[in-house]
Amino acid sequence: MKDTLVMLYALQQVDSNLQELHEQKGDLPAVVSSLEADLTLLHNSISDKKTELDNVKISRERSDGDIIDFKEKIEKYREQQFSVRNNREYDALTKEIDYSTEQIDTLEREFLESEGIIEVIVQDIEILNTKVGEVELNLNDRKAELEILSKETEHEELNLNHQKEKILVRLDKDIVDRYDRIRIARKGKGIAPIRKDCCGGCNNRIPPQHVMEIGTNQKLYLCGHCGRIIVSTEVAAEANQLNILS
Ligand SMILES: [Zn+2]
Repeated sequence: MKDTLVMLYALQQVDSNLQELHEQKGDLPAVVSSLEADLTLLHNSISDKKTELDNVKISRERSDGDIIDFKEKIEKYREQQFSVRNNREYDALTKEIDYSTEQIDTLEREFLESEGIIEVIVQDIEILNTKVGEVELNLNDRKAELEILSKETEHEELNLNHQKEKILVRLDKDIVDRYDRIRIARKGKGIAPIRKDCCGGCNNRIPPQHVMEIGTNQKLYLCGHCGRIIVSTEVAAEANQLNILS
């Protein structure tokens, strides 16, 4: 059991060092992901606006074409009015001319409306493009920062992971799982040495009988307050001297 406790304690040292490396990177990885997501959203918005712009342009062209058609019709009706045989035919053509004139009014209003909408969409796209530029600039800076940090820690991280593998092959999976669960629940620290009859994790006093038990290094003792595994100072010292860590 003592060997297991020593290995577990050594594992904790490696895990703590790994955690420290991750903390050095701070929130940079999260910031980079979040900026990348922003960029995707902006590109999607621009693409939507462009589709909208195309549709409004098509509708504007249609209005324009229809206006020309109605103007041609009016001209034709006016020519026909010179060669009518009676008032009834003349009035019928006048009605057609009035109808076409009304249609032209409506179409011209629609044409102007489309022009206004196009102007707004073009402005929106410009604003979105400016934002894309800003986000890209920020993202590139952050990525460069993260890359430098990752390069600096890469070697150390590889080394620590290698040490971790060497320790893990010497431990039962069940006990490692148990330790991991406590470590995750206790903010990175799953095991602590006894310190002046107190838990080295939460500083709560350990009952004398348990202090004795811990000293025998014969069983996995969990702190009654924080749930961390508590080991004797002897185990901690042996783990610190392991040359597996160098
Ligand atoms: Zn404790």
